[in-house]
Amino acid sequence: MKKKQDVQEFHDEVVDRVNSAVLCDMDGVIIWDNKLIEGAKGFVEGLITDNVPFLFITNYPSLTPADLSHRLKKAGLDIAPEHFYTSAMATATFLKSQSAGDKVFVVGEGALTHALYEQGFTITDQDPDFVVIGETRSYNFESIEKSIKLIKKGARFIATNPDVSGPSGFPSCGALTAPIEKVTGKKPFYVGKPNPYMMRAALRRIGGHSESTVMIGDNMDTDIIAGIQAGMDTILVLSGVTGIDDLESYPYRPGRIVANVGKIDSL
Ligand SMILES: [Mg+2]
Repeated sequence: MKKKQDVQEFHDEVVDRVNSAVLCDMDGVIIWDNKLIEGAKGFVEGLITDNVPFLFITNYPSLTPADLSHRLKKAGLDIAPEHFYTSAMATATFLKSQSAGDKVFVVGEGALTHALYEQGFTITDQDPDFVVIGETRSYNFESIEKSIKLIKKGARFIATNPDVSGPSGFPSCGALTAPIEKVTGKKPFYVGKPNPYMMRAALRRIGGHSESTVMIGDNMDTDIIAGIQAGMDTILVLSGVTGIDDLESYPYRPGRIVANVGKIDSL
């Protein structure tokens, strides 16, 4: 039987935070509607001062790291492009790891195409090995029809992220895949959060380990479940899509809950 002192020591061990790296969602955590969220600037600048490895990970596939860096800079936070990791980048890395061919048909923006080019893929509608759906305003009947035909011919159905709508309600990748799914009867493989694939790829990128990295996010369905499934500590911020009353409907909980990132006093 454990003595009282042992129990106390065990308790202390659990409470002590050992996180030395940070993965952090962007929308609803750092920025909202192109404005910095309260406490975000101080929090991120603190990470830089303390030399904590960190990566902003976003399911939004339509901006490159340079675009995202620029977006934050306009809002008042100067962060180098190497601190950003998107579902488009994770998708390109995933396809590469599949070693199933180098031809991809893409429905998405330039950032997704760029990520695929960087991994050596050719973009084509001639017998592609993969059909990749991201988010784009140029999505139309023709792109749906073409995707369906190519998937029926045997191309593998991949999508960047499962979110059905973005921060301001516009349709996201998970909505754009729906008609293709309906007609082909096939479900896409979503690479972005909550797929632990994206979390592991992000961890590798910063040389972090799941047991000593914390995932910070505003979304229970993507960020928090992704962190939990990857075996990481998690912090839910209430500055985005999740309210405190929403928690009741989930069978899991984050490690900690704070109003915003400015309220995180230790990692
Ligand atoms: Mg978010």
